[in-house]
Amino acid sequence: MLTVEGLNAWYGQAQALFNVSLTVGEGELVVIQGLNGAGKSTLLQSLIGIGPRAQGRIHWQGQAIQNWPAHRRARAGLGFVAEDRRLFTGLSVKENLWIAASSGSAPSGQATPVQRFDRVMALFPQLQVMLHRSASQMSGGEQQMLALARTLMTGPRLLLLDEPCEGIAPVLVAALRDALLQLTQEGVAMLVAEQNQILAGHAQRVLTLVGGRLA
Ligand code: ATP
Repeated sequence: MLTVEGLNAWYGQAQALFNVSLTVGEGELVVIQGLNGAGKSTLLQSLIGIGPRAQGRIHWQGQAIQNWPAHRRARAGLGFVAEDRRLFTGLSVKENLWIAASSGSAPSGQATPVQRFDRVMALFPQLQVMLHRSASQMSGGEQQMLALARTLMTGPRLLLLDEPCEGIAPVLVAALRDALLQLTQEGVAMLVAEQNQILAGHAQRVLTLVGGRLA
């Protein structure tokens, strides 16, 4: 589904990624590990189109997308959840979800927004009981679930997740991990940056970034 070849990225004169190549197949879980500053976030951001200046080939479902703006990549089925979650904290859980639904691509034959909403409620029953709560009044783990649920409302085929389990209470980490594994069973592919080895044991491939290079 996703093929990355020779990806380089720079913040000004400082190169952050060096000749990174990888693939993610349908329904595959691929984990990117690496220490702080290794380039994990830069890689995910470059793939979704919000990274720094980059050069290299990115193919998604047979199309060269490296020159596409981020919104076009999202419409083509790439979903991204940033490390800081970027929720609308002044809005309720339900509002956060429905705003995302209106930005989804929903090509014919795919689920309707109502079907997607029912699906994320089944995946994250914890959210069902707090639909009218402000996102600012949720724990870190609940916010992470909401951020993921919001991205799922856009109907992605590949999820790019930046440290999804970081700083979350163990009981919610287990629920989050199970939901992510369930999604891969349903054919949603994932490229996940993580330092804490929570998903690595379930991954088809674990890649390690060291100083912006795949080791
Ligand atoms: P972390 O686990 O701490 O989030 P990371 O593996 O995601 O780290 P990146 O955030 O991608 O690493 O950073 C890769 C390199 O790029 C680091 O050397 C970092 O200092 C640099 N960098 C990241 N963001 C910027 C920026 N906005 N401006 C300049 N340099 C940056």
